[in-house]
Parts: sequence; structure tokens; C-alpha cells
Amino acid sequence: KELSSSQIRQMYLDFFKSKGHTIMPSASLVPVDDPTLLWINSGVATMKNYFNGSVVPKNPRMTSSQKSIRTNDIENVGRTARHHTLFEMLGNFSVGDYFKDEAIAWAWELLTSDDWFGWDPEKLYMTVYPKDDAAKKRWLEVGVAPDHIIEAEDNFWDIGEGPSGPDSEIFYDRGQSFNNLADDDPENYPGGENERYLEVWNIVFSQFNHEPDGSYKPLPRKNIDTGMGLERVVSVFQHAKTNFETDLFLPMIHATETYSDGKKYGEDAKEDVSFKVIADHARAITFAIGDGALPSNEGRGYVIRRLIRRAVVNGQKLGVDGAFLYKLVPVVGEAMKAFYPEVLENSDYIAKVVKSEEDRFNETLTDGLNLLNALIAETKKAGQKEIDGAEAFKLYDTYGFPVELTREYAFDEGIGVDEDGFEAEMQQQRDRARKARNSDNSMGVQTDLLIGIKSPSEYVGYTQLAVDDAKIS
Ligand code: ATP
Ligand code: MG
Ligand code: MG
Ligand code: MG
Repeated sequence: KELSSSQIRQMYLDFFKSKGHTIMPSASLVPVDDPTLLWINSGVATMKNYFNGSVVPKNPRMTSSQKSIRTNDIENVGRTARHHTLFEMLGNFSVGDYFKDEAIAWAWELLTSDDWFGWDPEKLYMTVYPKDDAAKKRWLEVGVAPDHIIEAEDNFWDIGEGPSGPDSEIFYDRGQSFNNLADDDPENYPGGENERYLEVWNIVFSQFNHEPDGSYKPLPRKNIDTGMGLERVVSVFQHAKTNFETDLFLPMIHATETYSDGKKYGEDAKEDVSFKVIADHARAITFAIGDGALPSNEGRGYVIRRLIRRAVVNGQKLGVDGAFLYKLVPVVGEAMKAFYPEVLENSDYIAKVVKSEEDRFNETLTDGLNLLNALIAETKKAGQKEIDGAEAFKLYDTYGFPVELTREYAFDEGIGVDEDGFEAEMQQQRDRARKARNSDNSMGVQTDLLIGIKSPSEYVGYTQLAVDDAKIS
């Protein structure tokens, strides 16, 4: 079937509507009343209050296509076929209503029935938690071949205290031509590092409460929470090599070609990464600013700033002249208007925010890049493998040049950054800032914030679990 991304999204929602689910809107990327999360990073992140019982939903069956941001995947963008900073997570949810039997049967029906996705069962592989005999049994019952069910120890969803449980992930076999590993590579299986097998869907059987004492207590009412990456599914339908050669990303890629100095997507692997990063980040910043976040030096704002800067730097690699990123905002709006009409409606405002940030950064960048290129040349000429830490720090401290960019640029040239040296300079900087604060002068804390950002929205799946005593059914 040749379907557009809008048709695929709608098909998912319609399918679960036909199974009694209420279609929920895609909630704001900015979490509401949830200080533990920087960004909404999954469908279930918007449903915490239903899952913990503090709010009772009108209908315990819900489905959504939830915009999500994962800062922990920033470095993956363009380097893998499947990762984005902003992506949509299709999901179906049961709050103490249906459980494993229905969730598995419906997943199989959606994926393989000719009325719906109509995918070839031969191409699908399911991973299950080794102790989850019930899931294994159910996949067999619905018609999955035994050799397409794979046990994986890390198939347990656990984010610390709260609901947790085994999960089943679904992989699509894109065929031998996608194989990037040797036949005897131990990672050569669905769930391993092989790009041949694309993880499309995670079905979580949330059936335990992870107690404060570390034990797992069966939940009286079991839940279902699933997440399917829309962009990945679209890549399968549209026979794309990566998520980027789909109707979700190509409009921004083509627009970027016209701002470059004559570069074309698909001609050079390194330049393609830049095209992908720009298309990805254009989407993320457009949606994030559309949801009310603004560039700044901390938290969410810093993520936006960082994404804009990365996109601008990649624009430079493609030879763009002056501000261009803001021109992609209406292109994103157009590509997404079927489901997110508000983005196109707000695109003038969003573009203005992007443009002013872009202009500001371009000034710094021109100076910084010249210095960095000279540094890289010197480092290589001296036969060294790493850029001097103090020099990298100077670039950052004096020119506001983000160290991630130094790292990336160096990486592209086959060298690294002396991280210890950089960190030592940074520590001295912090000490100076502390001293300055102690002497009642509050200057200098800004740079602490700039580097202090980790990604709190990172999902942590534990692999070491003590569920032996808890029966999985
Ligand atoms: P991966 O192993 O590919 O990084 P994941 O196991 O981290 O994916 P989950 O947390 O299980 O992902 O999220 C559910 C689904 O959301 C995934 O099966 C995938 O389809 C999609 N997804 C997750 N992260 C991303 C991302 N950064 N970009 C696009 N889609 C994603
Ligand atoms: Mg991941
Ligand atoms: Mg995974
Ligand atoms: Mg997963």
C-alpha cells in the first residue's frame, strides 16, 4: 500500500477507535504540572495521572498520536535511519481495562490485516521478556511463527517507582539490503544493532508496581501502554531508506537544497547528514516554540537554543548564506497541517523567534568557526588526535561556541576533543564563579548553566530486575 503519513496516522487512530478507544489530542510538548520531565517524551507521559489513579478517565481506552521530544537522541539524528528529536508516538492505552490478550491480538490485526496495514507476517519479529510466558503464548495463538518470537532480557519497562512490567517490541525486517553487520555478528538479530530490523512498536504490559523498597507487587488493575513511531512506520510504507525520505521530511530537505550553494540531497553521505539534521531540528524547534517554549540558557530553552545552533552550523556546512532556518518554519507547518493546523497558523510568530535567535548566533558563529577550522588544521598538522582542551574551552568561553559543535566538527574530521583538559578548564571557571559569588558578585554563573544541562527526559530501562518472585501472567 502507498499511503501518506496523514493517512497512516489516521488509520492507526481509526483502528483503535473501532476497538472502543477515545481519540485524544496530541498534548503540548511542555509537560503540565510535571517537574520531573523536561519534555513530553512518549504518549504515556501525558497519561501519568490516569495510570497512577489520581484522575479517572471518561473512557479507560484511549488512543493518540503524541508529539514527543527526546533529547537523549540528539546525537543519533542523521547518523541512524530511525531517530529524531521530535517524533510522533502512536499509542493505545488501557487504564485498568483490557490487557495482554487484547493488546496482542489487536496489534497483530492492525499490522497484518489487509483492511489495515496489511504487512507481510513473514517480515515481523516480536521480542518478549523471557519470563513472560503469557505474551509468548498469545503471540503464537494469534499466528506468529515460533521462530519470529525472540526472548530479550531487557524487555522490561521500568522507570523506578511506579507501574512497570514486561514489554513486547515489534521489529520490521527490511531485508538483506539493509544489513549493516556481518552474518555471524552476535548483534545480528531483531533487537540487536542490525539496521535491518527496525523497531516500530513497543507494547508495555504494565502489571507491577515497583515499590519504594525495590520489590515488584502485582497491580490489582493492569494497564496497557504502547508506543509506535509514526516516522518509522511511514518509512516502511513509503519504501524509504531512512525515515527522512518520506513526506514528513522531504519538503524541508528540498527547501534546504534551494538555500544551499547548489547542494543536492543524496549526493554525498556527509552532506546528507546535514540535510537530515536540519529537517529534523526544524520540526522540533517549530513545534516546541509553537507550544510556548522559547530559546534561553536553561532547561527547555537551552534545548531549543542548542537545536537551532546545530541546525545553523549544519546549514553552514551546506553553504547557506545568512539566516535560512526560519524559512523552514512554514514548510514544517505545511507538511504537518492535516493533523496540526495550529503550527501553520502560528508560523509567522514562530519564524520571528527563530530568525532573531539565528541572527544572533550567526554573528558568533562566523568568528568561532574560523577559529575552530584553524584549530583543527593545527591539530592535524601536529599529528595529534585531539583538540587541546584549553583551546576548545576558549572557543566556548570567549566566543560562545557550543562545545557539542566543536566535538561534532572535530568528529567529522576524524579527531576528538581533549575532554579532560576541557573539563579542567571548566572546573576552574566554576571555581572562579563560586569565588565571585562568595564575594557577593553574581556574575559568571551563566556558563555553569550552559553546560549543566543533561537530558532529564531520558527514559531509563533497567535490565537488572528482581521480578523472580512476581508471577507474570
Ligand atoms: P530505539 O531502540 O530505536 O532507540 P526505543 O526502544 O528507545 O527505540 P521506545 O522507548 O520503546 O523506543 O519508544 C516506543 C517507540 O517510539 C519505538 O518503538 C519507536 O518506534 C519510537 N521512537 C523511540 N525513540 C524515537 C526517536 N528518537 N525517533 C523516532 N522514533 C522513536
Ligand atoms: Mg531509544
Ligand atoms: Mg529499543
Ligand atoms: Mg523500545
